[in-house]
Amino acid sequence: MKMKKSFRVVLLGILFLLIYSTFSFFYVQNSVKELQHQKFLAVSNDFKNKVNTLIQEKQEAVILVSLSLAVNRNIKESLLTNDHTKINLADFSKTLANNTSLQNVWFQVIDTKGVSFYRSWTKKRLDSLVDIRLDVNKMLAKPQVISSISTGKFDITFKSMIPLYNDGNFIGSIETIAKFNSIAIKMNKETFETLVLVDKSYKEQLTKVSKSRFIEDYFVANLDPGERFLSLLKEVDIQKTISIKEYELNKKYNVLITSYKQPDIHGKDMGYILMAKKISEIDMSELDETKKRVISVLVFIFFLIIALAYYIYIVNYKSFVQRQNEKLEERVALKTSELNHIAHHDSLTKLPNRLLFLDRLKQTLKYATRRKQSVGILFLDLDRFKEVNDTHGHGIGDKLLIEITNKLKLALRDEDTIARLGGDEFTVMLSNIHETALVKIVNKIIDSMQDKVIIEGIEIYTTFSIGISMFPKDGPTSDILLRNADTAMYKAKENGKNSYQFYDVAMTEMAFKRIDLENDIKHALENGEFEPYFQVKVDATSDKTVGLEALIRWNHPTKGLVFPDEFIPFAEEIGLISAIDNYMMLESMKIVLSWLKDGLNPGILSLNLSAKQLDNNYMQEVEDIVKSTGFEYKNLELEILESQVINNPKEVIEILTQIRELGVKISIDDFGTGYSSLSYLKTLPIDKLKIDRNFVMNIPADKDDIAIVKTIINLAQNLKLELVAEGVETQEQADFLVKEGCNVLQGYFYSKPISAKDCKNYLKAKQ
Ligand code: C2E
Ligand code: CA
Ligand code: CA
Repeated sequence: MKMKKSFRVVLLGILFLLIYSTFSFFYVQNSVKELQHQKFLAVSNDFKNKVNTLIQEKQEAVILVSLSLAVNRNIKESLLTNDHTKINLADFSKTLANNTSLQNVWFQVIDTKGVSFYRSWTKKRLDSLVDIRLDVNKMLAKPQVISSISTGKFDITFKSMIPLYNDGNFIGSIETIAKFNSIAIKMNKETFETLVLVDKSYKEQLTKVSKSRFIEDYFVANLDPGERFLSLLKEVDIQKTISIKEYELNKKYNVLITSYKQPDIHGKDMGYILMAKKISEIDMSELDETKKRVISVLVFIFFLIIALAYYIYIVNYKSFVQRQNEKLEERVALKTSELNHIAHHDSLTKLPNRLLFLDRLKQTLKYATRRKQSVGILFLDLDRFKEVNDTHGHGIGDKLLIEITNKLKLALRDEDTIARLGGDEFTVMLSNIHETALVKIVNKIIDSMQDKVIIEGIEIYTTFSIGISMFPKDGPTSDILLRNADTAMYKAKENGKNSYQFYDVAMTEMAFKRIDLENDIKHALENGEFEPYFQVKVDATSDKTVGLEALIRWNHPTKGLVFPDEFIPFAEEIGLISAIDNYMMLESMKIVLSWLKDGLNPGILSLNLSAKQLDNNYMQEVEDIVKSTGFEYKNLELEILESQVINNPKEVIEILTQIRELGVKISIDDFGTGYSSLSYLKTLPIDKLKIDRNFVMNIPADKDDIAIVKTIINLAQNLKLELVAEGVETQEQADFLVKEGCNVLQGYFYSKPISAKDCKNYLKAKQ
């Protein structure tokens, strides 16, 4: 595209150059021609003007001479006395020739009858002129000054006749004649080559010409004509040449030719004064000057056009660039808005994301503040979404989220904003709403979740835990309101999922503490702040140590020794419990192994195992730890809370079954508090029941507890399960339990949980 364009520009430029130079060439040519014409015309006119002036001057000179003779006494007297002897004008003619420019002048005196009374050029006189001459008759009819240029028998001449008077009486006339040819002589001197021709109509009449020179029938009046000019005239069409109006150029002779017409007394064409001037003699320097000027103007115009074209091109180019820029800006704007959409929306559900939600919430809060309206913020978290992902894969999980989004949209009003914060977390903003109306909407959401969702043939039941914060009651800003709704959501989860919870201040404080605690626990794991304590299990009948239960202690850098009740439930909630349990397993095994090496006999090692985060990897983790330490499976026992097994039966049973197959013993901790049925208990992969401390505590005073303990012991015997009782603090309690058939006892009565060092000493002492 770009190439093509510049190519077009170059082509256009060449075309312009061609046209312009052609135009310039012809323009210069034309102007030169025109100037030449003007110059030639001027030369021709100059010639004609000069000829005209000369003729008039000569004519006047001839009259003047006649006039001066008109007062000549001798002439008068001669006419009056009829005696011509007193007149001698031949001498006067000679005097004029000597002293003036009048070279050939002749005179004639004519009497009142028209008779030639005297002639200066011949002795012949007294012949009547009346018959042959019009002017003589004119003079006789009315004496007057008569001046003419006319052709006679000899030549073409200037003539002037002046009447002569005596005392007022007409006594005759004096006639002066001069040669017309003198004009040619004078013009020749002016560098105009000049020829005088007499019209062909006079050919018959010119009987006495001195040199019989004719071109065709035109008499050449010059005495000494230029031969070149003569031969030129012989070659051209003479008729045409004598009637040249302005001028003509003869290429062969390289001359400019002009013709001046001299009419006779009747106005008929009589003489022609032809001029030839060599073109080389015409001053053309002016022309060259003008040519130069024209060319420089043209060159100037050329550059002006080029500059103009360049300017236009630049302006065009600029606007082109500008247009391109505008297009680019448009595209950038489009991309920006696309990016904006991406930046503000969740790609999976197309819902607004956190950023946009907070932005809209901010706007709504401003508006609500002005109008004194309430705004409700819901924080929704899908219950058990992780399970869906784990069991069915993320593809199904994503589809579920889309389905859930549709359900939410149906349950909400058009003006409400739904957003997805990520994962299974959604938020909803309900503007201009009160608590009662809000509860209705929340219930609608919870109800809408009742129905199963079917994705790719899989039936999925999900519920929401919903936290609610209200503006302005629960906070002034969008961030705080969202955080508080989040806190409320956690509370809702704690209270048993599929429910909603409004926010209150205490919840927030709790939340902050939890955040601190979480960080602390992570830190503790990294720094080895956790330490196993050991509490012995004793066979009461033989007073032998049959096992040790590892109980975690936290050597907190600022709080000192921290007990498990303060952090174990939280660690379970935030998913750190497996890391803790694994840590405990590794550390406890190392210690117990070192004791075995020292020849001590600690019996079976019991570890408390949280079933909350038990997953398919657990078995592998146990194997890895056991392998790394060299601990024997048969010396290991895992204590699991009854309540935790009941809550998560299927998976937990599966994992426990596998572990038990390794040779590890499984014990149900805090037994009696979880209300397990007998039939259920039968299905569990367990070896032991551990009677909960709360029942032991009130023995032998509490009848109910005695009954319960008896029942548990009975149950264990029936199911062929081993028994342990915990929390034994007194001899009485121990005696009762042994009496009822529970021999393995644990409690302060025998030993509190003690550090590894103390425990080692205890074991040594026992041996
Ligand atoms: P638990 O498994 O039922 O442990 C017995 C608790 O009762 C221990 O509290 C122990 O110190 C206490 N105890 C033992 N004998 C007596 C007695 O005669 N009288 C009284 N009043 N108390 C007695 P501890 O060590 O504070 O542990 C509390 C709970 O923390 C444990 O209850 C167990 O559920 C959990 N726990 C401890 N260590 C771990 C651990 O490493 N992992 C897991 N998942 N849980 C642990
Ligand atoms: Ca325990
Ligand atoms: Ca217990």
